[in-house]
Amino acid sequence: MNFTSLGLSAPLLQAVAEQGYETPTPVQAQAIPAVLEGKDVMAAAQTGTGKTAGFTLPILEQLAKGQRSQSKRVRALIITPTRELAAQIGESVTAYGAHLPLRSAVVFGGVKINPQIAKLRQGVDILVATPGRLLDLHNQQCVQLDRIEVLVLDEADRMLDMGFIHDIRKVLALLPSKRQTLMFSATFSVEIRNLAKKLVQNPVEISVTPRNTTVETVSQQMIPVDKKRKPALLTHLIKEQQWSQVLVFTRTKHGANRLTKQLLAKDIQAVPIHGNKSQNARTKALAGFKKGTVQVLVATDIAARGLDIDQLPQVVNFDLPSVPEDYVHRIGRTGRAGSSGQAISLVSADEFKQLSAIERLIKNRIPREYIVGFEPVNDVPAPRLDRPQARPKKAHPAKPDHRAGQRPGKRPPRKPLVQGSKRRERP
Ligand code: AMP
Repeated sequence: MNFTSLGLSAPLLQAVAEQGYETPTPVQAQAIPAVLEGKDVMAAAQTGTGKTAGFTLPILEQLAKGQRSQSKRVRALIITPTRELAAQIGESVTAYGAHLPLRSAVVFGGVKINPQIAKLRQGVDILVATPGRLLDLHNQQCVQLDRIEVLVLDEADRMLDMGFIHDIRKVLALLPSKRQTLMFSATFSVEIRNLAKKLVQNPVEISVTPRNTTVETVSQQMIPVDKKRKPALLTHLIKEQQWSQVLVFTRTKHGANRLTKQLLAKDIQAVPIHGNKSQNARTKALAGFKKGTVQVLVATDIAARGLDIDQLPQVVNFDLPSVPEDYVHRIGRTGRAGSSGQAISLVSADEFKQLSAIERLIKNRIPREYIVGFEPVNDVPAPRLDRPQARPKKAHPAKPDHRAGQRPGKRPPRKPLVQGSKRRERP
């Protein structure tokens, strides 16, 4: 299978070749022909599968055939939850459309609105937008959405998680009912399916990663460790494993700032990236990370969502996410478009509940390793996959019952660690 057989014309084939893509990814192979036929699409595909080209290439192909956009009008609208993702999709649109006479624009909050207004005034064929800024621009009558030909709702699950449902409903009310709709989501929860029912008609359904399972090319590990020792363990791993580019997730913005300081104190070039940082600071941090001047990017889930960093080899969960689906999203940052990656989670005993929820979601145990010198005083019990999770004791929420989710007497005895071996796998 190659891009030519998918029905794309010469200017797009040239752009694809310039990107160095030889074979379409599975989501591209399925989505491109469907979109070219004018069908609605509902795709379960997470970042890293090549989904952006999967919808952008056929949209460009279709738009190139029609009449160019005129003042304030938009022909294809791509809505996406975060600024970073919007910027990245905008870059893809520019790259893939390099040999076509189409105009595109990217709009998101946190930056000046006037340059965005000026761009929209001329009319754009493709607009990539976050929901809030799009509504602002519409309220100021700077953009007309009543002639949209194609709507893409990207990362729909994240949009709901981030509370954008009302904004999305408002945007939908501004669009013509006769249009093509493409919906992409990493996971398809009941909520997403309900939203989809109102949005897409007889969609072609595409699923490139089985529902709620983790990407196969990512090797996963969890390292039990006491909470206090997590910064020291992370420093040890970065230095010992000589990681040159690692994305570290923390649960909170405050946690990201604190960890960054701790890493900097150990001469590790780290930068935090989260919602309290200005757009400029985030763009700079990402650019530094891509260039290699920043070794560690410490990110919260929302900020890291959709970051397009090619072939990121290493992801670390410094804290486990409280929403188990975020684990799937986080480790999707590595092992992208077929390259292999490693996701390591540092797990303390108080995170037993989150670990149980994650393992049940992915229907798998995350293999454990103990690091010599960092063995926890409070070990993390092994959750059971087949039973609803035990509630942690109310009186001591930070210290879950070590027997929770275990049959009495069935917990395997802790094996001594072999001296001389730096890591040891535990069954
Ligand atoms: P996405 O899932 O759209 O975020 O894409 C993930 C990464 O895969 C991006 O860095 C793309 O440049 C890359 N990519 C997309 N399509 C292909 C392809 N057919 N071959 C190789 N890399 C690709």
